Amino acid sequence: MQAQHEEPSTLELDRLVFHSWSAQGALHPLVIAGGSGAEVWDEDGRRLLDFSSQLVNTNIGHTHPRVVAAIQAQAAVLPTVAPAHANRVRGLAAARILEAAGEPFAKVFFTNGGADANENAIRLARLTTGRDKVLSAYRSYHGNTGAAVVATGDWRRVPNEYARGHVHFWGPFPYRSEFWSSSPEQEVERALHALERIVEAEGPGTIAALLVETVPGTAGVIVPPPGWLTGLRALCDRWGIVLIFDEVMSGFGRTGDWFAFQNPELNPDRIVPDLVTFAKGVNSGYVPAGGVLIPPAIATEFDTRVFPGGLTYSGHPLAMASIVATIDAMRDEGIVDHARRIGAEALGPALRALAERHPVIGEVRGLGVFWALDLVTDRAARTPLPPAEMARIKAALVEAGLLPFVQDNRIHVVPPCIVTEEQVERAVAIYDAVLP
Ligand code: PLP
Repeated sequence: MQAQHEEPSTLELDRLVFHSWSAQGALHPLVIAGGSGAEVWDEDGRRLLDFSSQLVNTNIGHTHPRVVAAIQAQAAVLPTVAPAHANRVRGLAAARILEAAGEPFAKVFFTNGGADANENAIRLARLTTGRDKVLSAYRSYHGNTGAAVVATGDWRRVPNEYARGHVHFWGPFPYRSEFWSSSPEQEVERALHALERIVEAEGPGTIAALLVETVPGTAGVIVPPPGWLTGLRALCDRWGIVLIFDEVMSGFGRTGDWFAFQNPELNPDRIVPDLVTFAKGVNSGYVPAGGVLIPPAIATEFDTRVFPGGLTYSGHPLAMASIVATIDAMRDEGIVDHARRIGAEALGPALRALAERHPVIGEVRGLGVFWALDLVTDRAARTPLPPAEMARIKAALVEAGLLPFVQDNRIHVVPPCIVTEEQVERAVAIYDAVLP
Protein backbone atom coordinates (compact mmCIF):
# COMPACT_ATOMS: atom_id res chain seq x y z
CA MET A 1 0.00 0.00 0.00
CA GLN A 2 1.17 3.51 -0.84
CA ALA A 3 2.07 5.61 2.23
CA GLN A 4 -0.19 8.60 2.71
CA HIS A 5 1.78 11.85 2.30
CA GLU A 6 0.57 14.99 4.01
CA GLU A 7 0.70 18.12 1.86
CA PRO A 8 3.65 20.29 2.90
CA SER A 9 2.74 23.53 4.63
CA THR A 10 3.34 26.89 2.94
CA LEU A 11 6.28 27.55 5.25
CA GLU A 12 7.77 24.14 4.43
CA LEU A 13 7.39 24.89 0.72
CA ASP A 14 8.93 28.31 1.28
CA ARG A 15 12.18 26.60 2.26
CA LEU A 16 12.53 25.91 -1.49
CA VAL A 17 12.46 29.62 -2.24
CA PHE A 18 15.67 31.68 -2.25
CA HIS A 19 14.66 35.07 -0.85
CA SER A 20 15.84 38.61 -1.70
CA TRP A 21 18.35 40.59 0.41
CA SER A 22 18.49 37.97 3.20
CA ALA A 23 20.58 35.39 4.97
CA GLN A 24 18.43 32.39 4.07
CA GLY A 25 18.82 30.51 7.34
CA ALA A 26 17.34 33.21 9.55
CA LEU A 27 14.04 33.74 7.76
CA HIS A 28 10.61 33.48 9.37
CA PRO A 29 8.34 34.96 6.70
CA LEU A 30 4.75 35.89 7.36
CA VAL A 31 2.33 33.86 5.26
CA ILE A 32 0.02 36.07 3.20
CA ALA A 33 -2.73 34.12 1.47
CA GLY A 34 -5.08 36.80 0.15
CA GLY A 35 -6.02 40.44 0.20
CA SER A 36 -8.68 43.00 -0.59
CA GLY A 37 -8.41 46.77 -0.54
CA ALA A 38 -6.12 47.83 2.32
CA GLU A 39 -6.23 44.42 4.05
CA VAL A 40 -4.43 41.10 3.66
CA TRP A 41 -4.97 37.82 5.49
CA ASP A 42 -3.09 34.65 6.31
CA GLU A 43 -4.20 31.05 5.71
CA ASP A 44 -6.25 31.02 8.92
CA GLY A 45 -8.11 34.15 7.82
CA ARG A 46 -6.39 36.45 10.33
CA ARG A 47 -6.60 39.93 8.82
CA LEU A 48 -3.93 42.60 8.83
CA LEU A 49 -4.20 46.23 7.79
CA ASP A 50 -1.64 46.57 5.01
CA PHE A 51 0.19 49.80 5.83
CA SER A 52 3.17 48.65 3.74
CA SER A 53 1.36 48.36 0.39
CA GLN A 54 3.71 45.33 0.15
CA LEU A 55 6.83 47.05 -1.24
CA VAL A 56 4.97 50.35 -1.54
CA ASN A 57 3.30 49.22 -4.75
CA THR A 58 -0.36 48.33 -4.19
CA ASN A 59 -1.52 51.92 -4.62
CA ILE A 60 -4.99 50.85 -5.79
CA GLY A 61 -5.28 48.25 -3.00
CA HIS A 62 -5.41 44.49 -3.27
CA THR A 63 -7.55 42.63 -5.87
CA HIS A 64 -9.26 45.67 -7.36
CA PRO A 65 -12.06 43.97 -9.34
CA ARG A 66 -11.62 46.07 -12.47
CA VAL A 67 -7.89 45.34 -12.70
CA VAL A 68 -8.37 41.63 -11.97
CA ALA A 69 -11.09 41.41 -14.64
CA ALA A 70 -8.89 43.20 -17.20
CA ILE A 71 -6.04 40.73 -16.62
CA GLN A 72 -8.44 37.79 -16.88
CA ALA A 73 -9.98 39.13 -20.10
CA GLN A 74 -6.58 39.79 -21.69
CA ALA A 75 -5.34 36.32 -20.69
CA ALA A 76 -8.18 34.80 -22.69
CA VAL A 77 -7.35 36.87 -25.80
CA LEU A 78 -3.54 37.05 -26.00
CA PRO A 79 -1.53 36.42 -22.83
CA THR A 80 1.83 37.22 -24.45
CA VAL A 81 3.16 38.88 -27.58
CA ALA A 82 6.64 39.75 -28.83
CA PRO A 83 7.63 43.39 -28.30
CA ALA A 84 8.31 43.93 -32.03
CA HIS A 85 4.61 43.53 -32.88
CA ALA A 86 2.09 46.32 -32.55
CA ASN A 87 -0.58 45.49 -30.01
CA ARG A 88 -3.57 47.64 -29.13
CA VAL A 89 -3.51 47.29 -25.35
CA ARG A 90 0.16 48.29 -25.29
CA GLY A 91 -0.58 51.47 -27.23
CA LEU A 92 -3.51 52.21 -24.91
CA ALA A 93 -1.30 51.75 -21.84
CA ALA A 94 1.29 54.15 -23.30
CA ALA A 95 -1.45 56.70 -24.07
CA ARG A 96 -2.85 56.49 -20.49
CA ILE A 97 0.60 56.95 -18.92
CA LEU A 98 1.55 59.84 -21.23
CA GLU A 99 -1.74 61.58 -20.48
CA ALA A 100 -1.02 61.33 -16.75
CA ALA A 101 2.54 62.64 -17.22
CA GLY A 102 1.67 65.56 -19.50
CA GLU A 103 4.06 67.60 -21.66
CA PRO A 104 6.69 67.07 -22.98
CA PHE A 105 6.67 63.27 -22.76
CA ALA A 106 5.84 61.55 -26.04
CA LYS A 107 6.87 57.90 -25.84
CA VAL A 108 7.10 55.07 -23.31
CA PHE A 109 9.71 52.31 -23.24
CA PHE A 110 8.21 49.45 -21.24
CA THR A 111 10.30 47.29 -18.90
CA ASN A 112 9.60 44.49 -16.40
CA GLY A 113 10.00 46.68 -13.32
CA GLY A 114 11.78 49.64 -11.77
CA ALA A 115 15.43 48.52 -11.91
CA ASP A 116 15.40 47.93 -15.64
CA ALA A 117 13.50 51.20 -16.12
CA ASN A 118 16.47 53.00 -14.52
CA GLU A 119 18.89 50.81 -16.46
CA ASN A 120 17.33 51.94 -19.73
CA ALA A 121 17.00 55.59 -18.70
CA ILE A 122 20.74 55.59 -17.97
CA ARG A 123 21.36 53.91 -21.33
CA LEU A 124 19.30 56.59 -23.12
CA ALA A 125 21.22 59.34 -21.33
CA ARG A 126 24.60 57.81 -22.20
CA LEU A 127 23.66 57.25 -25.84
CA THR A 128 22.26 60.74 -26.39
CA THR A 129 25.04 62.64 -24.61
CA GLY A 130 27.94 60.41 -25.63
CA ARG A 131 29.11 60.66 -22.01
CA ASP A 132 29.57 58.00 -19.38
CA LYS A 133 29.22 59.13 -15.77
CA VAL A 134 26.05 58.95 -13.71
CA LEU A 135 25.53 61.01 -10.57
CA SER A 136 23.11 59.83 -7.91
CA ALA A 137 22.47 60.30 -4.20
CA TYR A 138 23.80 58.26 -1.27
CA ARG A 139 20.32 58.17 0.21
CA SER A 140 18.63 56.34 -2.64
CA TYR A 141 17.48 53.02 -4.01
CA HIS A 142 17.22 52.54 -7.77
CA GLY A 143 16.92 48.74 -8.16
CA ASN A 144 19.03 45.59 -8.04
CA THR A 145 20.51 45.32 -11.58
CA GLY A 146 23.89 46.45 -13.06
CA ALA A 147 23.85 50.25 -13.26
CA ALA A 148 20.73 50.67 -11.08
CA VAL A 149 22.24 48.99 -8.03
CA VAL A 150 25.50 50.90 -8.42
CA ALA A 151 23.53 54.13 -8.75
CA THR A 152 21.86 53.13 -5.46
CA GLY A 153 23.17 54.89 -2.39
CA ASP A 154 22.54 52.40 0.41
CA TRP A 155 24.36 49.27 1.64
CA ARG A 156 22.99 47.19 -1.21
CA ARG A 157 25.36 48.90 -3.67
CA VAL A 158 28.53 47.92 -1.86
CA PRO A 159 28.65 44.14 -2.59
CA ASN A 160 27.45 44.79 -6.17
CA GLU A 161 29.80 47.45 -7.49
CA TYR A 162 30.52 46.02 -10.93
CA ALA A 163 29.24 48.89 -13.11
CA ARG A 164 31.46 51.78 -14.07
CA GLY A 165 31.11 55.54 -14.10
CA HIS A 166 29.03 56.09 -10.96
CA VAL A 167 29.56 59.02 -8.62
CA HIS A 168 27.51 59.73 -5.49
CA PHE A 169 26.53 62.86 -3.60
CA TRP A 170 24.59 63.80 -0.47
CA GLY A 171 21.16 65.23 -1.17
CA PRO A 172 19.31 67.55 1.22
CA PHE A 173 17.87 66.05 4.41
CA PRO A 174 17.22 68.77 6.99
CA TYR A 175 16.56 66.31 9.84
CA ARG A 176 19.86 64.47 9.34
CA SER A 177 21.93 67.09 7.55
CA GLU A 178 25.40 66.30 6.22
CA PHE A 179 25.96 70.05 5.84
CA TRP A 180 25.55 71.31 9.43
CA SER A 181 22.68 73.43 8.16
CA SER A 182 20.11 74.99 10.46
CA SER A 183 17.22 75.51 8.04
CA PRO A 184 15.79 73.78 4.95
CA GLU A 185 16.84 76.77 2.82
CA GLN A 186 20.42 76.51 4.03
CA GLU A 187 20.35 72.73 3.53
CA VAL A 188 19.32 73.12 -0.13
CA GLU A 189 21.83 75.88 -0.76
CA ARG A 190 24.68 73.81 0.70
CA ALA A 191 23.63 70.54 -0.95
CA LEU A 192 23.44 72.29 -4.33
CA HIS A 193 26.80 73.92 -3.76
CA ALA A 194 28.42 70.59 -2.86
CA LEU A 195 26.85 68.95 -5.91
CA GLU A 196 28.04 71.74 -8.18
CA ARG A 197 31.57 71.24 -6.86
CA ILE A 198 31.35 67.50 -7.53
CA VAL A 199 30.22 68.18 -11.11
CA GLU A 200 33.13 70.55 -11.63
CA ALA A 201 35.61 68.15 -10.06
CA GLU A 202 34.36 65.15 -12.06
CA GLY A 203 34.40 67.14 -15.32
CA PRO A 204 30.97 68.32 -16.48
CA GLY A 205 31.68 67.07 -20.02
CA THR A 206 31.93 63.48 -18.72
CA ILE A 207 28.55 63.38 -16.96
CA ALA A 208 25.66 61.79 -18.86
CA ALA A 209 22.94 61.77 -16.22
CA LEU A 210 21.87 62.95 -12.83
CA LEU A 211 19.48 60.37 -11.38
CA VAL A 212 17.39 61.13 -8.31
CA GLU A 213 14.24 59.84 -6.70
CA THR A 214 11.90 62.84 -6.73
CA VAL A 215 11.11 61.91 -3.13
CA PRO A 216 13.72 59.43 -1.86
CA GLY A 217 11.51 56.60 -0.59
CA THR A 218 13.30 53.60 0.90
CA ALA A 219 15.95 55.98 2.25
CA GLY A 220 13.33 57.56 4.50
CA VAL A 221 10.59 59.43 2.59
CA ILE A 222 12.87 62.46 2.40
CA VAL A 223 10.64 65.22 1.08
CA PRO A 224 12.96 67.60 -0.80
CA PRO A 225 12.85 71.18 0.48
CA PRO A 226 11.77 73.84 -2.02
CA GLY A 227 14.54 74.84 -4.39
CA TRP A 228 16.24 71.44 -4.64
CA LEU A 229 14.52 70.20 -7.80
CA THR A 230 14.81 73.66 -9.41
CA GLY A 231 18.52 73.71 -8.57
CA LEU A 232 19.02 70.27 -10.13
CA ARG A 233 17.27 71.39 -13.31
CA ALA A 234 19.47 74.50 -13.54
CA LEU A 235 22.65 72.48 -12.96
CA CYS A 236 21.72 69.95 -15.65
CA ASP A 237 20.75 72.70 -18.12
CA ARG A 238 24.05 74.44 -17.53
CA TRP A 239 26.15 71.37 -18.27
CA GLY A 240 23.98 69.46 -20.75
CA ILE A 241 23.33 66.63 -18.26
CA VAL A 242 20.19 64.46 -18.63
CA LEU A 243 18.02 64.85 -15.52
CA ILE A 244 16.27 61.57 -14.62
CA PHE A 245 13.56 61.45 -11.97
CA ASP A 246 13.02 57.98 -10.55
CA GLU A 247 9.29 57.91 -9.76
CA VAL A 248 9.13 54.14 -9.28
CA MET A 249 7.93 54.54 -5.68
CA SER A 250 6.66 58.14 -5.71
CA GLY A 251 4.54 57.89 -8.88
CA PHE A 252 0.91 57.01 -9.53
CA GLY A 253 -0.82 58.47 -6.53
CA ARG A 254 1.62 57.94 -3.68
CA THR A 255 2.19 61.68 -3.10
CA GLY A 256 -1.38 62.62 -4.04
CA ASP A 257 -0.39 63.33 -7.65
CA TRP A 258 0.11 61.17 -10.72
CA PHE A 259 3.81 61.98 -10.41
CA ALA A 260 5.57 63.59 -7.46
CA PHE A 261 7.24 66.17 -9.74
CA GLN A 262 3.74 67.51 -10.50
CA ASN A 263 3.17 68.38 -6.84
CA PRO A 264 3.26 72.18 -6.41
CA GLU A 265 4.67 71.90 -2.87
CA LEU A 266 7.56 69.68 -3.98
CA ASN A 267 8.14 71.49 -7.23
CA PRO A 268 6.86 75.08 -6.94
CA ASP A 269 8.75 76.15 -10.08
CA ARG A 270 7.18 73.33 -12.07
CA ILE A 271 10.45 72.16 -13.57
CA VAL A 272 10.30 69.03 -15.72
CA PRO A 273 12.95 66.28 -15.84
CA ASP A 274 14.32 64.90 -19.12
CA LEU A 275 13.38 61.30 -18.36
CA VAL A 276 11.04 59.72 -15.81
CA THR A 277 11.13 56.11 -14.66
CA PHE A 278 8.09 54.35 -13.21
CA ALA A 279 6.86 50.91 -12.07
CA LYS A 280 5.00 49.83 -8.87
CA GLY A 281 1.87 52.03 -8.74
CA VAL A 282 1.39 52.11 -12.53
CA ASN A 283 -0.58 48.86 -12.13
CA SER A 284 -0.07 48.28 -8.41
CA GLY A 285 2.28 45.44 -9.30
CA TYR A 286 -0.52 43.02 -10.22
CA VAL A 287 1.70 42.02 -13.15
CA PRO A 288 5.38 43.08 -13.17
CA ALA A 289 5.83 46.26 -15.24
CA GLY A 290 7.79 49.48 -15.40
CA GLY A 291 9.10 51.89 -17.96
CA VAL A 292 10.72 55.14 -19.04
CA LEU A 293 8.90 58.28 -20.20
CA ILE A 294 10.78 59.85 -23.10
CA PRO A 295 10.36 63.37 -24.52
CA PRO A 296 10.66 64.09 -28.28
CA ALA A 297 14.11 65.66 -27.80
CA ILE A 298 15.48 62.24 -26.80
CA ALA A 299 13.06 59.96 -28.69
CA THR A 300 13.84 61.53 -32.11
CA GLU A 301 17.51 60.71 -31.62
CA PHE A 302 16.47 57.12 -32.24
CA ASP A 303 14.32 57.79 -35.32
CA THR A 304 17.27 56.87 -37.50
CA ARG A 305 19.65 55.36 -34.97
CA VAL A 306 19.02 51.90 -33.51
CA PHE A 307 18.15 51.84 -29.80
CA PRO A 308 20.37 49.02 -28.51
CA GLY A 309 18.07 47.71 -25.78
CA GLY A 310 15.06 45.40 -25.39
CA LEU A 311 13.28 42.79 -23.28
CA THR A 312 11.22 39.73 -24.22
CA TYR A 313 8.39 40.99 -22.02
CA SER A 314 8.59 44.72 -22.89
CA GLY A 315 4.95 45.77 -23.09
CA HIS A 316 3.62 42.39 -21.91
CA PRO A 317 -0.13 42.33 -22.66
CA LEU A 318 -1.21 41.21 -19.17
CA ALA A 319 0.79 44.07 -17.67
CA MET A 320 -0.55 46.49 -20.28
CA ALA A 321 -4.18 45.49 -19.66
CA SER A 322 -3.63 45.94 -15.93
CA ILE A 323 -2.10 49.40 -16.51
CA VAL A 324 -5.07 50.58 -18.59
CA ALA A 325 -7.58 49.27 -16.04
CA THR A 326 -5.59 50.68 -13.09
CA ILE A 327 -5.32 54.18 -14.52
CA ASP A 328 -8.97 54.19 -15.62
CA ALA A 329 -10.14 53.01 -12.19
CA MET A 330 -7.90 55.53 -10.43
CA ARG A 331 -9.39 58.32 -12.57
CA ASP A 332 -13.02 57.18 -12.30
CA GLU A 333 -12.80 56.68 -8.53
CA GLY A 334 -10.78 59.84 -7.83
CA ILE A 335 -8.10 57.75 -6.11
CA VAL A 336 -5.21 60.19 -6.61
CA ASP A 337 -7.22 63.09 -5.15
CA HIS A 338 -8.29 60.83 -2.31
CA ALA A 339 -4.63 60.05 -1.50
CA ARG A 340 -3.82 63.76 -1.37
CA ARG A 341 -6.86 64.53 0.81
CA ILE A 342 -6.44 61.68 3.24
CA GLY A 343 -2.78 62.62 3.68
CA ALA A 344 -3.51 66.27 4.33
CA GLU A 345 -6.66 65.84 6.42
CA ALA A 346 -6.37 62.51 8.23
CA LEU A 347 -3.07 60.64 8.03
CA GLY A 348 -0.65 63.59 8.36
CA PRO A 349 -2.47 65.23 11.29
CA ALA A 350 -2.94 61.87 13.06
CA LEU A 351 0.77 61.02 12.76
CA ARG A 352 1.77 64.45 14.04
CA ALA A 353 -0.57 64.01 17.01
CA LEU A 354 0.97 60.59 17.59
CA ALA A 355 4.42 62.20 17.74
CA GLU A 356 3.19 64.50 20.48
CA ARG A 357 2.33 61.46 22.60
CA HIS A 358 5.51 59.47 21.82
CA PRO A 359 8.95 61.07 22.30
CA VAL A 360 10.40 58.07 20.42
CA ILE A 361 9.13 59.72 17.21
CA GLY A 362 11.87 62.18 16.30
CA GLU A 363 10.29 63.41 13.09
CA VAL A 364 7.15 62.86 11.04
CA ARG A 365 7.59 63.65 7.36
CA GLY A 366 5.69 62.95 4.19
CA LEU A 367 2.64 63.75 2.12
CA GLY A 368 -0.24 61.87 0.50
CA VAL A 369 0.07 58.23 1.55
CA PHE A 370 3.87 58.45 1.76
CA TRP A 371 5.06 59.03 5.35
CA ALA A 372 7.93 58.11 7.66
CA LEU A 373 8.21 58.08 11.43
CA ASP A 374 11.90 58.57 12.26
CA LEU A 375 12.36 56.80 15.60
CA VAL A 376 15.03 57.95 18.05
CA THR A 377 16.28 57.14 21.52
CA ASP A 378 16.82 60.83 22.22
CA ARG A 379 15.01 63.66 20.48
CA ALA A 380 17.78 66.21 20.98
CA ALA A 381 20.59 63.97 19.69
CA ARG A 382 18.32 62.29 17.07
CA THR A 383 20.02 58.96 17.80
CA PRO A 384 18.37 56.26 15.67
CA LEU A 385 16.45 53.61 17.59
CA PRO A 386 18.59 50.41 17.59
CA PRO A 387 17.72 47.42 15.35
CA ALA A 388 16.63 45.14 18.22
CA GLU A 389 14.04 47.69 19.38
CA MET A 390 12.84 48.19 15.78
CA ALA A 391 12.43 44.41 15.43
CA ARG A 392 10.40 44.31 18.65
CA ILE A 393 8.13 47.12 17.43
CA LYS A 394 7.67 45.44 14.06
CA ALA A 395 6.65 42.14 15.65
CA ALA A 396 4.26 43.90 18.04
CA LEU A 397 2.59 45.80 15.17
CA VAL A 398 1.98 42.55 13.29
CA GLU A 399 0.67 40.95 16.48
CA ALA A 400 -1.73 43.88 16.89
CA GLY A 401 -3.08 43.47 13.34
CA LEU A 402 -1.01 45.84 11.20
CA LEU A 403 1.46 44.94 8.45
CA PRO A 404 4.14 47.66 8.74
CA PHE A 405 6.97 48.81 6.49
CA VAL A 406 10.02 49.00 8.72
CA GLN A 407 13.31 50.26 7.33
CA ASP A 408 16.38 50.99 9.49
CA ASN A 409 15.12 53.13 12.41
CA ARG A 410 11.93 54.14 10.64
CA ILE A 411 8.36 53.06 10.21
CA HIS A 412 7.19 54.04 6.74
CA VAL A 413 3.46 54.65 6.84
CA VAL A 414 2.54 53.77 3.27
CA PRO A 415 -0.99 52.38 2.96
CA PRO A 416 -2.72 52.03 -0.41
CA CYS A 417 -4.12 55.28 -1.86
CA ILE A 418 -7.65 53.93 -1.27
CA VAL A 419 -7.21 53.73 2.52
CA THR A 420 -10.27 55.00 4.40
CA GLU A 421 -10.43 57.37 7.36
CA GLU A 422 -11.65 54.49 9.52
CA GLN A 423 -8.62 52.40 8.51
CA VAL A 424 -6.30 55.33 9.23
CA GLU A 425 -7.86 55.65 12.69
CA ARG A 426 -7.48 51.93 13.33
CA ALA A 427 -3.85 51.94 12.19
CA VAL A 428 -2.93 54.98 14.25
CA ALA A 429 -4.53 53.37 17.32
CA ILE A 430 -2.24 50.37 16.74
CA TYR A 431 0.90 52.52 16.37
CA ASP A 432 -0.23 54.36 19.51
CA ALA A 433 -0.59 51.14 21.50
CA VAL A 434 2.70 49.62 20.34
CA LEU A 435 5.13 52.57 20.31
CA PRO A 436 6.95 53.19 23.57
N1 PLP B 1 13.48 52.81 -7.86
C1 PLP B 1 12.87 53.04 -6.69
C2 PLP B 1 12.71 54.45 -6.21
C3 PLP B 1 12.38 51.99 -5.92
O1 PLP B 1 11.78 52.23 -4.76
C4 PLP B 1 12.53 50.67 -6.41
C5 PLP B 1 12.03 49.52 -5.64
O2 PLP B 1 11.74 49.61 -4.48
C6 PLP B 1 13.17 50.48 -7.64
C7 PLP B 1 13.63 51.57 -8.34
C8 PLP B 1 13.37 49.10 -8.20
O3 PLP B 1 12.18 48.60 -8.68
P1 PLP B 1 12.03 47.02 -8.96
O4 PLP B 1 12.16 46.35 -7.65
O5 PLP B 1 10.67 46.92 -9.61
O6 PLP B 1 13.11 46.64 -9.92
